[in-house]
Amino acid sequence: MNYHIGTMLIDENFTESCDCPLCRIKATVDGRLTESYLGEGVMEDNTRAEVNKLGFCDHHYSLLFSSRSKLGLALQISTRLNTVLKEIKQPKNAKEAKKQGEAILNLNKTCVVCKYLDEHMIRYYKTVAQVYQNVASFKDRLLKTHGFCLSHYAELLTYSSFAGGKQKEYLQDLYEVQSKRVKTLKTDIDEFTFHHDYRQASTPLSQGAKDSLKETSNLFYGDKFKI
Ligand SMILES: [Zn+2]
Ligand SMILES: [Zn+2]
Repeated sequence: MNYHIGTMLIDENFTESCDCPLCRIKATVDGRLTESYLGEGVMEDNTRAEVNKLGFCDHHYSLLFSSRSKLGLALQISTRLNTVLKEIKQPKNAKEAKKQGEAILNLNKTCVVCKYLDEHMIRYYKTVAQVYQNVASFKDRLLKTHGFCLSHYAELLTYSSFAGGKQKEYLQDLYEVQSKRVKTLKTDIDEFTFHHDYRQASTPLSQGAKDSLKETSNLFYGDKFKI
């Protein structure tokens, strides 16, 4: 069983906290991966070649830029600019200009950190299912969470077969926590809108209703954790 990617993070983050446990795990893995692009290993030939080819997305460039090692980032970007320069050519005609336009837009669609982050996260989706299958007490921990953001719920469904013989039970528990999250949110949002009727102005608003728009954002787009 593939446990080495860290059941520790799964252990730490499947708690009664209101946040999506996988968003928390992702933020931690993201921080570690991004940091590794500022270390000494980044100037190894194969890493350099990958940075050359894929570059960084806006999110990861900002993270790298906010770190202390500006030189590390500058060295990476210097090699990446060679790739960009290859795409900046004098267009000979409209057809070639259009082709160049597409190629230039594609330059910003890849990111070396995102590539590895996605790979790591897929291993986490699989491992959560494996832990569910193999560690009896994990069921209870899953049921005590407050569900997931939509994309992480979808990923857990996608990789549910890794729970093996317990897949059916796993899917049932995932559904239970997730449907509860969405139903609670719906109730809170309805309370929020109801309260805006002037006849209800004197009724106190519950904390859930007060937080409901922020919680909706967390459900749709994931919890944002500062790395
Ligand atoms: Zn999430
Ligand atoms: Zn990225």
